[in-house]
Amino acid sequence: MQSVTTERHDDVLVVIVNNPPVNALSWHVRQGLKDSFEAGIADDGVKAIVLRCDGATFIAGADITEFGKAPQGPDFNAVLNMIELAPKPVVAAIHGTALGGGLETALVCHYRVAVPSAKLGVPEVKLGLLPGAGGTQRLPRVVGIDAAAMMVSSGDPLPAAKAQEMGLVDALAGEDSLAADAIAFAQGAIAKGPRPTRDRPITGDVGAIEKLKAANARKWKGFEAPYANLACVEAATRLPFEEGMTFERTEFMKLMTGSQSAAQRHMFFAERQAAKIDGLPKDTQLRTIKKVGVIGAGTMGGGISMNFLAAGIPVTIVEMAKEALDRGVGVIRKNYEASAAKGRFTTDKVEAMMGLLTPSLSFDDLADCDLVIEAVYESMDVKKDVFGKLDAIVKQGAILASNTSYLDVNEIASATKRPADVLGMHFFSPANVMKLLEVVRGDATAPDALATVMALSKKIGKVAVVAGVCHGFIGNRMLSQRQNPANQLLLEGATPAQIDKVHTDFGMPMGPFQMADLAGLDIGWHRDPSRIETLRDALCAAGRFGQKNGKGFYDYDEKRNGTPSAEALAIIEEFRATSNLAKREITDQEIIERTLYPMVNEGYKILEEGKAQRASDIDVVWIYGYGWPVYRGGPMFWGDLEGASKIVEALERHGVKVADSLKAKA
Ligand code: NAD
Repeated sequence: MQSVTTERHDDVLVVIVNNPPVNALSWHVRQGLKDSFEAGIADDGVKAIVLRCDGATFIAGADITEFGKAPQGPDFNAVLNMIELAPKPVVAAIHGTALGGGLETALVCHYRVAVPSAKLGVPEVKLGLLPGAGGTQRLPRVVGIDAAAMMVSSGDPLPAAKAQEMGLVDALAGEDSLAADAIAFAQGAIAKGPRPTRDRPITGDVGAIEKLKAANARKWKGFEAPYANLACVEAATRLPFEEGMTFERTEFMKLMTGSQSAAQRHMFFAERQAAKIDGLPKDTQLRTIKKVGVIGAGTMGGGISMNFLAAGIPVTIVEMAKEALDRGVGVIRKNYEASAAKGRFTTDKVEAMMGLLTPSLSFDDLADCDLVIEAVYESMDVKKDVFGKLDAIVKQGAILASNTSYLDVNEIASATKRPADVLGMHFFSPANVMKLLEVVRGDATAPDALATVMALSKKIGKVAVVAGVCHGFIGNRMLSQRQNPANQLLLEGATPAQIDKVHTDFGMPMGPFQMADLAGLDIGWHRDPSRIETLRDALCAAGRFGQKNGKGFYDYDEKRNGTPSAEALAIIEEFRATSNLAKREITDQEIIERTLYPMVNEGYKILEEGKAQRASDIDVVWIYGYGWPVYRGGPMFWGDLEGASKIVEALERHGVKVADSLKAKA
């Protein structure tokens, strides 16, 4: 495979990589680089070497399809060492993106020129890794400790101008004249001679590393990779280059063979996979969505509208009464203004987005919408009434969607004469923030309607997953399998704080009872204080509705910080007495077995019933919809790590009916 070629321009040799689509560092590229540089170094007529790429980008990174496979071709580090130690100046000419192994290749070049639109970075941390081909050792020698620490731990790429300020780029080239400008730069560098990065002194203050850790303590909680990256930069400041490289290799191997990176790489592929719809003809034509209608300006309707406004798509929002409409529109404006105050965008942008919003009290104003999303109360009667009205008013060909959390989308569709145009768009709260969108495919949903909504979701910055019709779809259906046993555990002797701590230690942003308090304990409550059938009834009867009124499973201060509540615990004790359950010691392991294993089990049932297309889609739902820690790869990936037989044994011990497919796996 010939993916590297050379060209001679007087005394400059130009080495050109051409490995579409992103010039990844596949084995044949490494081989080509080795051969070309060896020849260039041996040729006395060559006084300088330029490395550049054809196609859309510089080397964009490692070939991640080679991960986990037997190594082939020359060792990457050996190739990099040879380039770095070349006895004549080497210049990297960068366009597109120089990421990961791509930037590491640029770092062994003695000089770097880049076009203004280029981006440079080491994103390995986002896959739970570190730049393990000298990136952590060479970067501080080029940009200093502070900038290197920031780059390796955030993984965010930098624009070329910023990279030039930091010394990562020596000169900016013309957007259309990179090849020629790089040759000219190389000719100028002949007099300066080679400049091996490993020999350059490290500047800056090592204290910057601790400061960075302190500032990101919350964000990095539970993650290994940011800390491993920083440990390597710190090592570079005190060890000779070769020893630093050994340190980096050891840290890299720990990450590479650990479960966190495996989980993060799994999620990288899972997210891309989720966009694919099984059984959809390739030539499916998408419908045009130029105008969106939203019904209901409550918690969800407002948040849903914000997504479209931010993407520049006009929204007509309809409410029943003026007061609710004004309140809903007011909340949207307040949210945008708060973001503008934080500097996320300008106040002009706020006005532009608000200008795309048309508030209305009449369904008639939805007639020319291409997509209408219903976000009214969670009641089948109300929803069917709304869809019946939409059917009579909205133009043919429009997509009619429901944001229902649990209800049967087929039944909702039956209220119309066009069930093929009906589907579920289940956003998560807060709908303008949470990235997940469950797209619920009804029995009659047309393939092009489904495909249109899946494509649209990307436009509004969501990660969409296709779900089948069932109670609670993928996410909430599994959530029930966590909440029910969690409630039961309270009656057997665990406290809300104990159960929640097991979940937050696991890496969830909050535990089941913190989440219940946040959502409100009175949701779906029958509102009769004398009727106490569940623990929730008992808490509501005592006026404990959750965060909204400062007391639920926990007591809350004005800043909504929760602390264990003596009153709530007393209510739990009292309710236990009526249920004839004896209080006993509950271990953290039992909490995991009874609240997390049933979720995995339910995931298998969902797959058996065809309500999710693939296991990795379920992982996407939990990571983007509920904050499952990405370093644990979602419940299905985590279930595999735990081991099917261990899970089945525990579920059976606790009397849970095990999914056939899970049993078969065990
Ligand atoms: P909400 O009570 O905050 O808002 C509902 C709004 O709909 C109210 O403002 C009400 O006036 C309006 N409305 C009711 N009937 C109407 C009608 N016929 N015409 C026009 N407007 C009407 O409720 P919400 O939390 O936004 O939930 C809405 C839907 O979203 C429900 O189906 C719910 O299950 C679902 N959902 C909620 C969440 C959540 O966390 N709140 C998350 C996902 C999905």
